[in-house]
Amino acid sequence: MDNETKIIGRCPVCGGNVVKTCKGYRCENNTGEDGKCGLFINGVIGNRKMSDDEIAKLLEKRSILLDGFATKEWKAFPTVLVMGDDGVISMESIVARCPRCGGEIRVGAKAFNCSNYRQEGNPCDFVIWRNIGGHLMTLDDVREICADGVTSREIEMYGENGAIYRRKLGLSPDKTKVIKV
Ligand SMILES: [Zn+2]
Ligand SMILES: [Zn+2]
Repeated sequence: MDNETKIIGRCPVCGGNVVKTCKGYRCENNTGEDGKCGLFINGVIGNRKMSDDEIAKLLEKRSILLDGFATKEWKAFPTVLVMGDDGVISMESIVARCPRCGGEIRVGAKAFNCSNYRQEGNPCDFVIWRNIGGHLMTLDDVREICADGVTSREIEMYGENGAIYRRKLGLSPDKTKVIKV
């Protein structure tokens, strides 16, 4: 029974409202008629159930970093879901360019790592931990550090006694890791 229409966000294809259905999320203009919008988002992506808030953020920001996807063998992995202008969702593990060697920075379970970490002769050990001082690093944080060398905003972190402090995060002078600046 569809007794309550919940609006999740705006359709990237036609600008209509995206509403929740029993199987996922669809554009209100997706009525099954020819020529109308065909947007439909499955409620389960990559063996992971999506929440309304996550779909709302994906529709608004067009990319969202999430954990808990799983392969067919049930190996869990994080990824970035990206929604194109056509409403098609893809998974992308590359989030930025390595500020040290120009390689690809990929999201892993514990850290954002450089794809050249195993390169013979000249491995790159650049790393940004997923959790720094109790703060879960966002896509924007990582992209700003890799592109600009420092976050644009101060980040709220926590000391061992739970005390809150705020600092920017940026590249160390040798560009091997992230430090509080
Ligand atoms: Zn639409
Ligand atoms: Zn690198």
